[in-house]
Amino acid sequence: MTAFTINRRAVMLSAVVGASSMIVSALGTSGIANAQTKSSAARNAGHYRFRIGEISATVLSDGIIGGPPRIYASDAPEADLQEVLRLAFLPTDHLTLNLNTLLIETGGRRILIEAGAGGTMGPSGGRIFENLAAIGLSADDIDTIVISHTHPDHVGNLRNADGGRAFPRATVFLPKADWDFFVLTDPDLSYMPVPQEFRLRFAAAIKSSLEPVRNDVELYEAGAEIVPGLTTIVASGHTPGMATFLVHSGNDQLLLTADLAYHPVVNVDRPWLPGPDRDKETALSSRRRIFDMAAADQIPVLGFHFPFPGLGRMLKTDGGYAWVPADWQF
Ligand SMILES: [Zn+2]
Repeated sequence: MTAFTINRRAVMLSAVVGASSMIVSALGTSGIANAQTKSSAARNAGHYRFRIGEISATVLSDGIIGGPPRIYASDAPEADLQEVLRLAFLPTDHLTLNLNTLLIETGGRRILIEAGAGGTMGPSGGRIFENLAAIGLSADDIDTIVISHTHPDHVGNLRNADGGRAFPRATVFLPKADWDFFVLTDPDLSYMPVPQEFRLRFAAAIKSSLEPVRNDVELYEAGAEIVPGLTTIVASGHTPGMATFLVHSGNDQLLLTADLAYHPVVNVDRPWLPGPDRDKETALSSRRRIFDMAAADQIPVLGFHFPFPGLGRMLKTDGGYAWVPADWQF
């Protein structure tokens, strides 16, 4: 299959580019530092406030990452993938993914859900700190950080440019099965559709990002309630321990889908599976179980990688699901 061969090469080329930006950040030109020196006034807002019952919530963008669409839609027929991207007016050679972390303020605590990528996945991450500043907060104000899974784009900001804790006061909650797989062992990442060199850097970025917190991390089993109003939901497959989250207050809820889907165009409106899913069958059944729940109960959803601010709802269709973005609120 010629198309597959060409695409595979594109994947590899891009992965090498991604890998070299990881080297740059390892040498000390941190994505965090770069992002902090840019004026946020020159850009659109990277924060978005709303409420979930009594809970105050703010989507804080850590910026963007991305790569060849094939990585995020591993089983899509090439012609279908190209057509879907064209019909969405998206580039056919690069898919942009957002990094929508969520700050919730409840019970006197400020809880950040996902830490973001920092400089681990390219130069366009690490903006969470300027977005915290834009709402009058700093990393010191975060009491708790809850991580869905330990891929670098979810934990990269835990380490600052000096190798210390970027959120000095925060207790960090991680799924135990991911800790066991990615941190306590040298994981076999041969399932990821990228060159071996990229896999090694990916694995190293996880360990180095978590190194500053490794002595006092809180490991959770998916299904646990982290604090009143924040429950974790089993969603394994993408990684051994991945969890999704339900934030609830009174009759209001918000479902966070973590990496059950990367981009709604290829993973909600179409059923295609991300290449980085370690166990694709389990990931697919997790996705269906949680999307069905979102659609049946019409629960507002936040997609970590969806176009900012990533809020909307799932609609059940004849063939699967459709993503319906929420109206912007001032
Ligand atoms: Zn991710």
